[in-house]
Amino acid sequence: MPDHSIVVLTAPSGAGKTTIAHRVLDALPAMQFSVSATTRPPRPDETDGVDYHFLSTEKFQARIEAGDLLEYQEVYPGRYYGTLRSEVEAKTEEGPVLLDIDVNGALNVKRIFGDDALVLFIAPPSLEELQRRLESRGTEDVKSLQARLDRVEQEMEKAEVCDAVVVNDDLDAAVEETLTRTRQFLDL
Ligand code: 5GP
Repeated sequence: MPDHSIVVLTAPSGAGKTTIAHRVLDALPAMQFSVSATTRPPRPDETDGVDYHFLSTEKFQARIEAGDLLEYQEVYPGRYYGTLRSEVEAKTEEGPVLLDIDVNGALNVKRIFGDDALVLFIAPPSLEELQRRLESRGTEDVKSLQARLDRVEQEMEKAEVCDAVVVNDDLDAAVEETLTRTRQFLDL
């Protein structure tokens, strides 16, 4: 694996990390997206194998037992998400790899890859704004929305151990800052 080849975007749900990830991938065609595995059901606009590898809980457990996951977390009760070892290995052959994962997973990736990984924490401008964005996104039912909000505080506390914090107040500015830091890290 080449040095300095992994960039991780992490954030509380609703901070805009996935939007920023898509914009980074558009701007840096060499960059490869690591498609995670998850046990949550697909949203209407999501495609299996593109946004996630959607797995049953049994299949996910089997992948854990086979040692196929570089890291995984039960991000919400009963909902598992994990980075596939094979995915990261294959994608790093093609170019630098972008991961969009939760904060605990991001810190585990940092522990594994050290200076070869850059972990950027995307922060919402405020908790009120985060709640407003999550509600208006309309992708979550009441229970899932509450589960996401319940996690925010503990996620925000981990921002300081990430390599840098990008505040997503203005989306274009946040994308620019993410791109600048990514290019600098990757020597692009
Ligand atoms: P969502 O359900 O909104 O797509 O994702 C929920 C959370 O799980 C997000 O913070 C997302 O970044 C995170 N996530 C997605 N894939 C992975 C993964 O492979 N590992 C970990 N630890 N978290 C992930």
